[in-house]
Amino acid sequence: MTQVIDGKSIAAGLREELAQQVKALPAQPGLAVILVGDNPASHVYVKNKIKACEQVGIKSFESRLPAQATQAEVAVEIQAFNDNPSVHGILMQLPVPDHLNSDDLIHLVNPAKDVDGLTFINIGKLVAGDETGMVPCTPQGSMILIKSVEENLGGKHAVVIGRSLLFGKPMAQLLLAENCTVTTAHSRTQNLDEVCRSADILVAAVGREKMVKGDWIKPGAIVIDVGINRMEDGKLCGDVDYEAALEIASAITPVPGGVGPMTIACLLKNTVKAAQST
Ligand code: NAP
Repeated sequence: MTQVIDGKSIAAGLREELAQQVKALPAQPGLAVILVGDNPASHVYVKNKIKACEQVGIKSFESRLPAQATQAEVAVEIQAFNDNPSVHGILMQLPVPDHLNSDDLIHLVNPAKDVDGLTFINIGKLVAGDETGMVPCTPQGSMILIKSVEENLGGKHAVVIGRSLLFGKPMAQLLLAENCTVTTAHSRTQNLDEVCRSADILVAAVGREKMVKGDWIKPGAIVIDVGINRMEDGKLCGDVDYEAALEIASAITPVPGGVGPMTIACLLKNTVKAAQST
């Protein structure tokens, strides 16, 4: 029978652990969020992050800037948080308005406070296997979910569909570090269905509703569905045809309630890690 991987409850367990770790710290950890503009989805994300911080005892700092804020004005906020010893993690909420250069802004964040793991130092540490770095939250959470069903991943063939810096590339690195044989697939990959059928671990992060069909899945595979897509009826679904996959996979994450809750939990985990390292 297919195991449904309950990201909500695994994330809740992680938050409880983090709350204990926070109590043991000499000073309260702090997470700062910088939000530029009026993107409604970003406002919801930031609200959820602040609520999650409160639950584990992390202090939230917020900087909300108008949509017309300049690159220099956002840079000043980042620098202020870099210099603030009560702030251990800094999150630049993406996307930023088009006139801003998000890459340049991200690289202004002190790597020790880069809880999104997107600065070059942290990307380099991940590739080098240096565990002092910050690992991006969604791949980190996805790896926790995979390991909740299978501890030893050595020799397994992992296929990651998607090669973004935010998810696909770091996910591939994490799987490689677990001794998987890793294939990264993307929009130019040929015979994607066949590639997927050879996966013991299949991770889909594309952003296309139910793109991965049931017959793309190897019987017994672990399937991690990262995609979040809104269907015509307003409901959310992933990149995998969940109903079809349920018949075939050994374990699968639902959408919602799979990878999503782990992303925020790992943001808190990175913030606590940053606070523990100071
Ligand atoms: P992204 O930057 O748009 O990357 C999408 C990737 O999918 C790209 O590498 C692209 O290939 C590939 N792709 C596009 N069409 C394809 C096709 N037909 N066949 C194979 N590959 C294809 O997106 P992202 O930021 O990585 O996010 C991916 C999905 O995950 C989105 O639905 C996003 O909402 C979701 N997400 C969820 C969470 C969470 O917390 N649950 C967090 C982050 C992201 P090319 O590189 O060749 O263009």
